[in-house]
Amino acid sequence: MGLEVARAEGIYLYAADGQRYIDLVSGVSVSNVGHSHPKVVAAVQRQAAQYMHLMVYGEYVQSPQVLLAQKLCALLPQSLSSVYFVNSGSEASEGAMKLAKRYTRRSEMVCFRNAYHGSTQGALSMAGNDAFKQTFLPLLPDVRVLDFNSEEQLPQITERTACVIVEPIQGEAGVVAPQRNFLQQLRSRCTAVGALLIFDEVQTGMGRTATMFAFERYGATPDILTLGKAFGGGMPLGAFVASGALMSSLANPALGHITTFGGHPVSCAAGLAAMEVMEEEKLLPEVERKKQLLAKAMLAHPAVKEVRGEGLLLAVELGDAQRVQRFFRKSLQHGLAIDCFLFCSTAFRIAPPLNITDEQIGEVCNLLYKCLEE
Ligand code: PMP
Repeated sequence: MGLEVARAEGIYLYAADGQRYIDLVSGVSVSNVGHSHPKVVAAVQRQAAQYMHLMVYGEYVQSPQVLLAQKLCALLPQSLSSVYFVNSGSEASEGAMKLAKRYTRRSEMVCFRNAYHGSTQGALSMAGNDAFKQTFLPLLPDVRVLDFNSEEQLPQITERTACVIVEPIQGEAGVVAPQRNFLQQLRSRCTAVGALLIFDEVQTGMGRTATMFAFERYGATPDILTLGKAFGGGMPLGAFVASGALMSSLANPALGHITTFGGHPVSCAAGLAAMEVMEEEKLLPEVERKKQLLAKAMLAHPAVKEVRGEGLLLAVELGDAQRVQRFFRKSLQHGLAIDCFLFCSTAFRIAPPLNITDEQIGEVCNLLYKCLEE
């Protein structure tokens, strides 16, 4: 994009040349409470002055990690009570997959077509897109790719399967929601054969889809939950979360996963502050209504074929990749920062900070409409 950002605040990016842009991407679902929220900035400054990195994660007790884990677990089902902090979404996928292999002593891992779980070699092995993996082969062996939403293929998950990793709502596939009871049936199949179910909520977590975690909508609880992106409030942070019994298998043999910077105290302080902001500003109950405003305005234009998504993770389908590229250039000229998807070239993404106001949404809709017209 060639956009040099000098400063960012709330939903706005300010370029070095003075131009203002409305951020409809949130750094790809990171800035859920907006850019440089004063409470998050204050928490970062406070923690940086107190201590930054002290020791490899897990050796010392560091209160920002303890407080964030407590806050997180209070919002999760009882079975998700042990948090392992890491640096990123990719590392969360790696940790979750390793935990599943260690616990089950099995090797096969299952993922879904058009899934994205990260770019490190283990996580990339679980990407459901062959072209994306092609130049890095061989990746992990014993990976099975199923069609998302295919109940008929669930019997391919068997007693050989260590884990199934799935985004409850697929992000980079172009925002694809699970059909009917798909996640419940997936849960049942995993339970029946003893495979661990991993929900990757790196993109959908932390309120992005109007509930704190997307899985809350679908009546299915994972054995392992992965988080990243907005979890660090704008700082690098990820986590995989499981039961204490499951997680303890990483300690036997010891040091099943090692990470120097995982759970960096400044990142944890920022993540905790961001969660507090979401509560204090009562952001979640407003997300669905904001989605409706955006979706309604987009659907009013004849060029828009479909608006997919939950909460403020939306894909606007134009049905034509070149049209999306033209729209992309046009939107930048009109001061809108939008983004495309890794595995869906015919739609563009709308994922603004969750604290975007109704007035700002009105302005966004006018500008988007103007870009579509042009
Ligand atoms: N899982 C999902 C669902 C993602 O969307 C992403 C990032 N787009 C990742 C994992 C990887 O996260 P990171 O880039 O922090 O490694």
